[in-house]
Amino acid sequence: MRKVLVVGAGQSGLQLALGLQGHGYEVTLMSNRTADEIRSGRVMSTQCMFDAALHHERDLGLDFWESEAPRIHGLGLSVAGPPDASGSSSRVIDWLGRLPGHAQSVDQRLKMAGWMDTFVERGGRLVVHGVTVSDLDYFARSNDLVLVAAGRGELGSLFARDAARSPHTEPQRALAVAYVHGLGPRPEHPDVEAVRCNPIPGVGELFVMPTLTTSGRADILFLEGIPGGPLDVFQGVKDPSEHLALTLELMERFTPWEYARATKVELTDERGTLSGRFTPTVRRPVGQLPGGGAVLGVGDVVVTNDPITGQGSNSAAKCAALYLDAILARGDEPFDEAWMTATFDRYWSEVAQHVTKWTNAMLAPPPEHVLGLFGAAGEHQEVADRVAGGFNDPSDFENFFYDPELTGQYLRQVAGQA
Ligand SMILES: Cc1cc2nc3c(=O)[nH]c(=O)nc-3n(C[C@H](O)[C@H](O)[C@H](O)COP(=O)(O)OP(=O)(O)OC[C@H]3O[C@@H](n4cnc5c(N)ncnc54)[C@H](O)[C@@H]3O)c2cc1C
Repeated sequence: MRKVLVVGAGQSGLQLALGLQGHGYEVTLMSNRTADEIRSGRVMSTQCMFDAALHHERDLGLDFWESEAPRIHGLGLSVAGPPDASGSSSRVIDWLGRLPGHAQSVDQRLKMAGWMDTFVERGGRLVVHGVTVSDLDYFARSNDLVLVAAGRGELGSLFARDAARSPHTEPQRALAVAYVHGLGPRPEHPDVEAVRCNPIPGVGELFVMPTLTTSGRADILFLEGIPGGPLDVFQGVKDPSEHLALTLELMERFTPWEYARATKVELTDERGTLSGRFTPTVRRPVGQLPGGGAVLGVGDVVVTNDPITGQGSNSAAKCAALYLDAILARGDEPFDEAWMTATFDRYWSEVAQHVTKWTNAMLAPPPEHVLGLFGAAGEHQEVADRVAGGFNDPSDFENFFYDPELTGQYLRQVAGQA
């Protein structure tokens, strides 16, 4: 049976390793951490995944937390207006769209540790080791295919930056995440589990979403601050309680409607906070090893976008599913560079280009026609649902989001039907 090495035990690496294992491939998985270290470690993401991506997990029978994790049926947008005389902001846009199917966020500490245990229980070979380029040189000789799924780690340097597809050379947001228990519902829709996006023009965004974490159901408070602005204040904050206090202070100032339901929150655990920043980057898919071998990048290694649109895990799942199909279809043919490039090109054209375009658009101040679209979503449920649906399938934004003409046509059509 063909031998495949997967480096990195995240969404894309584990999904591929388990998928290949299920088809009888001899898979070695290399991870720089054990399952227990991941389980008891720091939170890594907010990892909200939408229906299309969750389908890939269901197809492989890996949706172990489906019944426990909150089912997210709504995606809301509440845009903060300018502060009034007292310094407090109210909402100038406020709506809740319905998602196709449902979304779910399962703390990666739970999911990745659980999937790693499953991989081993099913007879997979797990090597706990922080892989270096020279290790890859060695392993490439003894495997038919090496997949590098090491996220935003150092192995990314094996893959050349694709300048034409990477408009940014600096981080576009400073990120600060806190997992909490005790958040109340939004009073307008107390019964709907929803991701709440709260853009604060010129300042950043606050995202609030339900999750399943190591201590059960929880919510995530996730601030994205424009660098140098008032939300970019978490550097150097090491104490988790201080991190939460700062988050709440900023919520009270910029999004008082979200703060109002957060007055009784407590951190889920001491490792329930995360802060940092990274530069969105698209890389070339094939890494050349010093010894002459080639390796294929998967997930964040090759396409890293800012989490403002919550797409990285979704894309990683879609990438893993597409690569799995391509590996199976390859049969006994060699996994040569031409195959690697063609496989990534399919991922880029079907998934990653749409995510990258939309995410980079959302990082910039919205043009007039997009503000109009978001405003219209407050009047027409159909528009709110269509925008929410784009989180599930970002390619649909091509049809009504970027081009003012297309946006206008779509809004006239909806108004006509109304
Ligand atoms: C704050 C934040 C919020 C986010 N929110 C969302 C969201 O709501 N929805 C969404 O879809 N995406 C979100 N994302 C993005 C998402 O988390 C990532 O895109 C996704 O985890 C990428 O999966 P991956 O498998 O490519 O890499 P990763 O999940 O990063 O996994 C890589 C693995 O490789 C391991 N590794 C690294 N180097 C080595 C090495 N040398 N040797 C061995 N192992 C190694 C790492 O420890 C890790 O386990 C968010 C990201 C952040 C930072």
